[in-house]
Amino acid sequence: MFNLVIFGAPGSGKGTQSERLINEYGLHHISTGEVLRDHIARDTELGRIADSYISKGQLIPDDLMIRVLASVLDENPEKTSRGVIFDGFPRTIPQAEALKKMLEERGTQLDAVVGLEVPEEELVQRMIKRGHDTGRADDNLDTIKSRLDVYHKQTQPLRDHYIKEGAYHAIDGSGDTERIFADIKTALKK
Ligand code: ATP
Ligand code: MG
Repeated sequence: MFNLVIFGAPGSGKGTQSERLINEYGLHHISTGEVLRDHIARDTELGRIADSYISKGQLIPDDLMIRVLASVLDENPEKTSRGVIFDGFPRTIPQAEALKKMLEERGTQLDAVVGLEVPEEELVQRMIKRGHDTGRADDNLDTIKSRLDVYHKQTQPLRDHYIKEGAYHAIDGSGDTERIFADIKTALKK
């Protein structure tokens, strides 16, 4: 069993690289952003709460987000048995601590953190383009600016946390997606 966190700023390519990793290693992909967008699309109670944060570029509060992740993990134990790619979670230190505990309680552990590092101008360009191509509501310039601000304040401290734990693999996440994927595979083989 191999559990992996794919880490990086908004627009860093977590979803894109997760797709490739699923195919290569047969892992189960959990994207908290996708889970929340699915609730918004179905207009559930969680969806309404999530939308009020996402539309402002803010994070969903930790206690709620942690409960959502735990229920997704327990939804289909057979799918998560080979291992999970966590995409978009954790985004705060309390979320990282909760993840560690959740995995321990389920008899497993976090094996690696892959950090996609991309210059800020490229992040903004990618999200603007994605907003045009897909109509994703939080990919507009105002919300993008808040998301980057939130990333620097609340999520980036996690990078140092995982570096200290020795679990962090820094990957140059700019440019060609095939080269990025090759670099991830090399890092994971070590
Ligand atoms: P990427 O472009 O790399 O997929 P992203 O940050 O643009 O990353 P998502 O991961 O899909 O997009 O997250 C979208 C939004 O959902 C976030 O801005 C946040 O409001 C909410 N969200 C997702 N995961 C979490 C989390 N772990 N904690 C709190 N809020 C979250
Ligand atoms: Mg994503």
